Amino acid sequence: MELPSQYNAKEVEDKIYQLWEKSGFFAPEAHQPRAGNPNKNKTFTIIMPPPNANGSLHIGHALFVTLEDIMIRYQRMRGKKTLWLPGADHAGFETQVVFDKKLEKEGRNRFQIPPDQLYKEILEFTLTNKKVMEHQLKKLGASCDWSREKFTLDENIIKVVYDTFEKLKKDGLVYKGKRIVNWCTKHQTSLSDVEIKYEERIDPLYFIKYGPITVATGRPETLFGDVAAAVNPKDKRYKDLIGKEVPLPLTDKKIPVIADDLVDIKFGTGVVKVTPSHDPVDFEIGKKHNLEGIQSVDFRGKLSEVAGVYAGLNIEEGRKKVVEDLEKLGLIEKIDKDYKHMVASCYKCNRIIEPMILDNQWFIKMTSKTKSGKLSLRDSAVKAVKDKKIVFVPKRMEKVFLHWMKNLRDWNISRQITWGIPIPGDESGQVFDTWFSSGQWPFAALKANSEKDFKNFYPTDVMETGWDILFFWVARMIMLGIYATGKVPFKYVYLHGLVRDKERQKMSKSKGNVIDPLGVVDLYGADALRMALTVGNTPGSDPIVSEEKIKGYRNFATKIWNASRFVLMNLDGYKAGSKIQLTAKDKKTLKDFQKQAKEITKEMEGFKFYLASEKIYHYFWHTFCDKIIEKQKPRLYGQNKKEKSASQRLLITLLFESLKLLHPFMPFITEEIYQQLPLKNKKECIMIEEWTTT
Ligand SMILES: [Zn+2]
Repeated sequence: MELPSQYNAKEVEDKIYQLWEKSGFFAPEAHQPRAGNPNKNKTFTIIMPPPNANGSLHIGHALFVTLEDIMIRYQRMRGKKTLWLPGADHAGFETQVVFDKKLEKEGRNRFQIPPDQLYKEILEFTLTNKKVMEHQLKKLGASCDWSREKFTLDENIIKVVYDTFEKLKKDGLVYKGKRIVNWCTKHQTSLSDVEIKYEERIDPLYFIKYGPITVATGRPETLFGDVAAAVNPKDKRYKDLIGKEVPLPLTDKKIPVIADDLVDIKFGTGVVKVTPSHDPVDFEIGKKHNLEGIQSVDFRGKLSEVAGVYAGLNIEEGRKKVVEDLEKLGLIEKIDKDYKHMVASCYKCNRIIEPMILDNQWFIKMTSKTKSGKLSLRDSAVKAVKDKKIVFVPKRMEKVFLHWMKNLRDWNISRQITWGIPIPGDESGQVFDTWFSSGQWPFAALKANSEKDFKNFYPTDVMETGWDILFFWVARMIMLGIYATGKVPFKYVYLHGLVRDKERQKMSKSKGNVIDPLGVVDLYGADALRMALTVGNTPGSDPIVSEEKIKGYRNFATKIWNASRFVLMNLDGYKAGSKIQLTAKDKKTLKDFQKQAKEITKEMEGFKFYLASEKIYHYFWHTFCDKIIEKQKPRLYGQNKKEKSASQRLLITLLFESLKLLHPFMPFITEEIYQQLPLKNKKECIMIEEWTTT
């Protein structure tokens, strides 16, 4: 019963993970708590946010694995049937972008590869990454049920996704049409509203003479797509011109002057050009006035044939040339250099979004009632949150969520990429926006395992993820979950922040401040990394992690090891389960511990893992090691047998109880030591021991 003098995390962690996997206790049905446990018939479920299977895990993944594993291990020890269901995401557009980069390096281009072959290649790439990821999750100590693992492209997942799509169609919530979409000219696909970023920019505003009137525009190069000039009907200045025609500069065309209340009297001259193919507001105006759009910029971001001599120029060149020629003709009245406006760009490549009209676009109505009069997707989600059926941790995120939901627009769910789930009945070969399938993940992942799992584990308990995907993902899961099942998909949403370095900088490869989670696990152990990611990390705010911090908790692991080693080395003559009389002082020490344990339990219940971990850390180091063990030395080394065995019992009890409290945070070292403890009624693993008996 002696521990080696040095703790070798690398060796122990792999061995312990194998022990857990073999034990089968990651599966909820394997764990049988004691008869009187009040949680015996309760379940606790977390569906793992499936990492994108297009690369290695980064520190953000290590953070979610740590937090979720803490919750799962804690609830398992409380006696609940715990299920943590792992998965991997094909991550449509995201993976396509990663794969595009890979192709670029190889001197290839996806637009030259036949779709079938491209799909096969990306699938292979994804499945290889998925394997690597699974291995990495294990390294971090994830106690998830691998027998239930799901991939977003599994056949039975796709079936659930199709069922939901059918239901949406039947309820009149799907429509297809020619719509203006956010188009990325680099990625050659449309993007949803949450996939574009807005920033304020200062650009020139051009005042161009269209015959007797002057229009103000930031985009002179699109004038070849103009179908009208528009004024506000209340604008007296132009009353007489409405219905007349004006010449379109640089062409031999004439366009009508129309009146529409969408025109802002105060903007520029009060006259705007109407280019339905390249502006969402103009698209609306065009629809009202039956004016068909003319595409003057093509899908690659170049001026199209209608631009005549300018055709083939990109937007910037086109704008310059058009303005030059207009100036030569004396058609530029003035240029206002301080035109402040919002510009949308692609969240992946920062290229300015070109609004484009696309045929056959699929949309989901977010704010309309169903055919049978049921609440809209948006309203039923808002209601569930307002009724506290879903609680946000931290609470302030609820406000952010509700505010965003207010301004929700219909969701464009079709993408013009190869990698994804094909939209049934779409002739142009489009696939679903990846968030349409991952938005169904909680119920789809359970149903794809079995209807029984769905019945037993849905609604799930906690959705733990980064606040940055609150709208991309969490909001969609709430809406689609309630819509498809009639129940909320989870009761709590725990949102974590973005890991930053010690200077509070965002970690990025270009800054060279990235911490590779698997690299530090190799050096300092997963337990040390997990503690570094937990202590001081309040929900919703950005945790700060540095190598020094991780090293600090490696030292803590050494402290735990040495203290345990000391206790185990001083057990001569000790028998587990034998009757031993403790002194009043011993009992007081145990009572003090129980007070601590109670507090820690309270923090665990309130999702305050940053406090619970800090408290057990301090107790173990500064009370158990520094005070209690020191005080016991004379009793352990003395001749009084009664005193000695009482002291041994006290130390073993406190060590065992402390290891249990530490286990959710530092699962490996606590398990390794537990395996050596002399205990009565010892279980196979500490993982299924009962949380403190207080
Ligand atoms: Zn892009």
